[in-house]
Amino acid sequence: MTAQNLFEKIKAQARSAEDLMLIKRAYDFAAKAHGEQKRKSGDPYISHPLATASELVDMHLDSSTIAAALLHDVCEDTYHSIKDIRKEFGDEIAFLVQGVTKLDKIRYRGTERSAESLRKMFLAIGEDIRVVLLKLVDRFHNMQTLSHLPPEKQKRIALETLEIYAPLAYRLGMADLSGKLEDLSFPHVYSSEYEWLMKEAKETYEDWRKYVERIKPVLTEELVKERIPFTGINARAKHYYSLYKKLLRYGMDVRKITDIVALRIIVPTIEDCYATLGVIHKLWKPLPGRIKDYIALPKPNGYRSLHTTVIGHEERPIEIQIRTPEMHGEAEFGIAAHWAYSEMKRRDTQAYAEGRSSKINARHFAWIEQLREWQKEFEKPEEFLEALKIDFFKDRIFVLTPKGDAFDLPEGSTPIDFAYHVHSDIGNTAVGAKINGKMVALDHILKNGDIVEILKQKNKKPSRDWLKIVKSAQARKKISSFLKHSEGDKKFEKRGGETVEFNLTIRDRVGLLRDVTHMLAKHKINIKKVDTDTKNQKWAALLIHAEGFKNKTEVEKMMVRLKGIKGIEDVSYKLL
Ligand code: MN
Repeated sequence: MTAQNLFEKIKAQARSAEDLMLIKRAYDFAAKAHGEQKRKSGDPYISHPLATASELVDMHLDSSTIAAALLHDVCEDTYHSIKDIRKEFGDEIAFLVQGVTKLDKIRYRGTERSAESLRKMFLAIGEDIRVVLLKLVDRFHNMQTLSHLPPEKQKRIALETLEIYAPLAYRLGMADLSGKLEDLSFPHVYSSEYEWLMKEAKETYEDWRKYVERIKPVLTEELVKERIPFTGINARAKHYYSLYKKLLRYGMDVRKITDIVALRIIVPTIEDCYATLGVIHKLWKPLPGRIKDYIALPKPNGYRSLHTTVIGHEERPIEIQIRTPEMHGEAEFGIAAHWAYSEMKRRDTQAYAEGRSSKINARHFAWIEQLREWQKEFEKPEEFLEALKIDFFKDRIFVLTPKGDAFDLPEGSTPIDFAYHVHSDIGNTAVGAKINGKMVALDHILKNGDIVEILKQKNKKPSRDWLKIVKSAQARKKISSFLKHSEGDKKFEKRGGETVEFNLTIRDRVGLLRDVTHMLAKHKINIKKVDTDTKNQKWAALLIHAEGFKNKTEVEKMMVRLKGIKGIEDVSYKLL
């Protein structure tokens, strides 16, 4: 990628003359700053910011982000400081560059120690998603040139990419980038597994590619005959790491995998998608249970398409994916595509008024907001990391409140999970749920797009059994914490435990006992028995059996009051 190529690409996108000027200015500044610096590969250093910027241009990101991409390593690797960037390019670009520099500090080595850094990273997401997109494509280019680094470093960066960056890209809807990052990391992190797969699957890939080439003309002819206005029909090969993970679930038998190479058809509209599906099913018999309508029910990361597996020519199954160009853009660029839409729509107020793109954005931003809220609730970094492993990187569903607020939950979640994600109080007082207007049990499994209404009852408490039902770590944590707090109270109730024995260590004085009994009487606590133990000259023990407490909290309050009485040095209690 040369600067000239980049500028031409940008010109083709109908950006304003000012924008083009800004990007050129950023390039000149960065090229001058990096000067004679070289990458480990021997390439001029500027090739890296250029490649990063180029990816973002393809994603249609705004010109400030493109400029920031060109400048992103200036502060780290040259004599310039962020102040220089701010002076030259203003607050917004300086903010983006600084964000990337901050993310550079993150290191993942496969231990919990890095959770603290992860936190920072996620906070940065909340601050500006463009920083994260920039960081992801920065890493993408670094992974492409990884072979020039020392082996130890290669391994660490690859592991970090596999565990942090690739899942993040996936979660942001950039499945393609995620797959590429995984495939670049795979040989470094699991080298023997990678070698095995290459040996095992090479022929299979070839075989599938050939099969798809044979089947393509047949399908094309049929689509033409049926007047489907398709604009593209391509083969898509499964990413290696994704195949490897699937093989782990399919007994490591490559012959059992039917989507190693799939056909992808692009048609103009959603109606065309369904019409195409009909034509295909007329031509070839679909495999039952393999038709997936991700248009009606998008995947949690926003992915939309129709999938079907049919028994094609030669009695061989083949997966076919059908989507519109818009869906294709989304699948490739994920949240960036939504972002670009909203930018375009913002300019076109008419279209914006219909609110479609803002809805998509609200959904994604709801997730980011949630993530931020979420990490505040974990005291220890390890806890947060554990919750992330369970919740964040797993398949997720989107459900809605009756008002239309979206919540992002792990697959298999129940109305109880939902209730706790909305608010702890709603979770704690839940008695039932309505899904899409119909009553369901609290252990009902939620589906993507469900509208969930929680029925509450005052003074209701969560049941211990809920711990077996809930799916999300967040709900589990909240239930456990409620139960822990009320455990003392429960013991109270179970034992009918009105009688409490206070054990007071006192420095005896005139009127002490009177003060103690007054205090208890004032709060309507009956004294059943008082014992003293004055064997020790200096210190005495006072044992009081009292009743009339409703719960543990009242007892605890009384302890504080007793401790406040002059001469009482120490208070403890037990239930009798
Ligand atoms: Mn960089």
